[in-house]
Amino acid sequence: MARKLVGLYPGTFDPTTLGHIDIIKRGARIVDKLIVGVGINTGKSPMFSLAERCEMLEEVVAPIAEKTGTEITIRGIEGLLVDYAEQSGASIILRGLRAVTDFDYEFQMVGMNARLNPDIETVFLTASEKHQFIASRLVKEVGLMGGDVRHFLTPEIAARVEVRCAEMRAR
Ligand code: ADP
Repeated sequence: MARKLVGLYPGTFDPTTLGHIDIIKRGARIVDKLIVGVGINTGKSPMFSLAERCEMLEEVVAPIAEKTGTEITIRGIEGLLVDYAEQSGASIILRGLRAVTDFDYEFQMVGMNARLNPDIETVFLTASEKHQFIASRLVKEVGLMGGDVRHFLTPEIAARVEVRCAEMRAR
């Protein structure tokens, strides 16, 4: 029987943006099974709890899984990424690359991860031109300043961000 290619796409997803969704769609066309790993200890003091971030992802991946026929699972992850990948049977880590600003950090991560576990390959994907510049951090900044976040998110996620930002502004 042919070996199944399992990919792990890790991130904070705080919240999931159209950029993330673009990468998930591309990843789902490459691997047989995709695990979207949601960082538990992000150190980034997220706007949304782990449960909320997973819930948003569940909603967006369902139609992608159906369309591509790829099994997509959402998991909270912690600890060393390469260890998690190995334990979950993933042989590749998927990352999205935006501008040169991502490159430095990602380049170092690839080197470190390759040394920690040479059997795990990192694969970089690029979102379509209109989604390349979207970053969760900036979406939150826009939302907190009362800007329109609907350009960068699905309508459902935009509604959640608007509510959360209004709550935060009212504090
Ligand atoms: P962010 O960097 O936006 O806070 P994450 O930590 O959740 O997001 O990112 C998870 C992965 O998704 C990273 O590999 C990141 O580079 C990638 N990514 C996020 N947004 C985009 C985008 N607009 N285009 C391509 N890749 C992206």
